[in-house]
Amino acid sequence: MAPPVAPAAGATKADVRDQSALEQRLGQSTSVIMPLLELGAIGYVTWVLAYQICIQYLIDPSAEFRQGFNVQPRRATGIALIVVYAVLLLLLLVPWSRLIQVIWSKPDLVPLGDTSLEKKEVTTSWLGEYDAYICDYEGMPLWCDKCHNWKPDRTHHCKELGRCVRKMDHYCPWAGGIIAETTHKFFLQFVFFGSLYTAYVWIVTAVFLDERISKTGSCPGTWIGVLVVGVLFCIFTFTMSCMTGWNLCINYTSVEGIQRGGVQNIAFLIASTPERSSLPSTPSAQDKPQSHDDWPVLNTIQRGQGRTYVVMQTKPHEHPWYTSLVVGWKDVMGNNIVDWLTPIKHSPYKQRSHRGEFEWGELVYDMAKQYEVHNPGVKLALLN
Ligand SMILES: [Zn+2]
Repeated sequence: MAPPVAPAAGATKADVRDQSALEQRLGQSTSVIMPLLELGAIGYVTWVLAYQICIQYLIDPSAEFRQGFNVQPRRATGIALIVVYAVLLLLLLVPWSRLIQVIWSKPDLVPLGDTSLEKKEVTTSWLGEYDAYICDYEGMPLWCDKCHNWKPDRTHHCKELGRCVRKMDHYCPWAGGIIAETTHKFFLQFVFFGSLYTAYVWIVTAVFLDERISKTGSCPGTWIGVLVVGVLFCIFTFTMSCMTGWNLCINYTSVEGIQRGGVQNIAFLIASTPERSSLPSTPSAQDKPQSHDDWPVLNTIQRGQGRTYVVMQTKPHEHPWYTSLVVGWKDVMGNNIVDWLTPIKHSPYKQRSHRGEFEWGELVYDMAKQYEVHNPGVKLALLN
């Protein structure tokens, strides 16, 4: 993903808007052009591998090859290679089609806000659904100036779309658009089967190119072209498969990976206190120990409808959503191998709970427990 281009010094708001609109048009155009180019490349590879290698060289070699270089027909080998190729191509095209279908239905975009309202007038009533949420130092959810709306947990503003996207991973013109909450599973299937397909293409081409050179001395440019394309895309898709698979296991998006090392503020809903008068208050500078290790509490806030929240901060490098490698994987890919390999069901974590926008990791529950230990009688909703 290319870094955003900084507006020149002295640029007006209109200049910045024009630049953003241009970036959006460019980003969205490339996500149509790149898949078309890839389909063209697949057509080219199919012609070379299935027709030139399997049919013209293996199944029915020319009289010149048979008589001059002793290249005998190998019908069974040629047919078997075509069948395996067709299966791998299908395994690539099915998740890719599903990925593009979901991308075009845009399920992960956060609605644009009403620009006629002041920030403080924009409702935060949706926070009432959750026992805990990501917030700023004042306990407010994070705000997007460009969309003029609040950002649910793990949402990021995508410059190519000009919109906030839930659990955004990255914008991928190669795949056809935004990789985020709903498309992450299908994207991993796309790059995984892409790596199998391209590995097969370059291995088959390399084997018969080597044989043809040793038998006939000829080295067709089309075969070399497919070999080069196959190797390059195999490296690319295999690398993306490994990176994406690992990120799913540790429950990081690419955006969160880039921001790794920062801290997160989390607002915890207080379910009950021993008596109203002993409502915990914001710790004063006098009470507050110097060490963050002992006291992660930043603030205690009152929100609408009598709800009180305590705001606590994670330590640098702590990730609030890390559970375990297996749970991270299953949350996105599904509970069994059929779900992992088929692009039918959506990720299980789409079934939200009242605990938060996403299931919290053990770290967040530990923070809540620590708070209850420091404040006897106070109960946090997350633990009840
Ligand atoms: Zn936004």
